[in-house]
Amino acid sequence: MTESDFITQLFRKEVLSLTAYKVNDASGLIKLDAMENPYHWPEPVVHDWLVRLKDSELNRYPDPEARRLSATIREIYGIPDQFGILFGNGSDEIIQLLLMALSPEARILAPDPGFVMYRQISHSLGLEYCGIPLRATDFDLDLPAMLEAIERHRPSIIFLAYPNNPTGNLFNEHAVLEIIQTAKGLVVIDEAYAPFANASFIDRLGRFDNLLVMRTLSKLGLAGLRLGYIAGNPDIIGQLNKIRLPYNINSLTQVTADFALRNSVLFGQQTQAICDERSLVYDALNRFDGITAYPSAANFILFRTPENRATPIFESLQSQGVLIKNLAPQGGLLKNCLRTTIGTPAENQAFLTALSNSLS
Ligand SMILES: *Cc1c(COP(=O)(O)O)cnc(C)c1O
Repeated sequence: MTESDFITQLFRKEVLSLTAYKVNDASGLIKLDAMENPYHWPEPVVHDWLVRLKDSELNRYPDPEARRLSATIREIYGIPDQFGILFGNGSDEIIQLLLMALSPEARILAPDPGFVMYRQISHSLGLEYCGIPLRATDFDLDLPAMLEAIERHRPSIIFLAYPNNPTGNLFNEHAVLEIIQTAKGLVVIDEAYAPFANASFIDRLGRFDNLLVMRTLSKLGLAGLRLGYIAGNPDIIGQLNKIRLPYNINSLTQVTADFALRNSVLFGQQTQAICDERSLVYDALNRFDGITAYPSAANFILFRTPENRATPIFESLQSQGVLIKNLAPQGGLLKNCLRTTIGTPAENQAFLTALSNSLS
């Protein structure tokens, strides 16, 4: 038996046909590709954080329920005790948990273009994934197409990123509500960019038994920690909790997230600075000949380049030391599109200067 036979007999065909999620090497580059918060903490905050970490008992397993962090999150984000809450090692892990819990015939539905992990994880588990095109004009939900797809595919889960990644917009609220009401399965509102959006479905949890709201601390400024959570109907959260690995949230993450969330003033200032910069970058992008930037309620901006120029511009920026995200390989509505994360004022200026060079 050859080595490749050995591999192909060992693994499921879904696994064999996947390509690994690839992250570009950013060493030495201005990093505007991954929606990270560009700001660090002031020295006194770092000091207080280290004091809290010092007491961590690394010889002991972490609290499997993350009770202290859970209480903090409920308090800060106003999630009443009647709803269940579950933590994941990033919200990516929660997406995986949700999908692992489904029956093998389950179908997953999400708008397209959307967050790539919904599709990637569905495929890795052998589940059928249906991407329903957004409206080409404004990237909003095509409600008739969504309702028709719900009727036809009867999806077990619908994912709606709110704001959407990679387009940056908030979907029409009434369309989202109609989807929640029509769906026979779960609707997961993925609020990864909530800190920049001023909009949320958390307040609607009580109105719909099939609604779950998912959040992450990654885009807020704690991408290195890996902490996401999902809240909603306690019976549904209870089922997910059975397949969660008992110690998925390590002690250092639990302590650090609790500490950071109690420093809400600092994150409020950083978030405000990012939103202020977002409008400057948006205006600057739209002043370039041939560039169209789309309005964003997140910490990144999607923009369209002249026909077939996305990859050359992306490469030119990279050679000038700026890494953004090239969406052209995804094709479809994104064929001529690039996405930049909002960085510090200096980083954004470096990006705009490099873009100007690449266009001349
Ligand atoms: C970044 C992102 C996530 C993943 O967040 P992690 O908590 O870092 O795993 C989930 N959903 C959307 C829409 C995102 O853009």
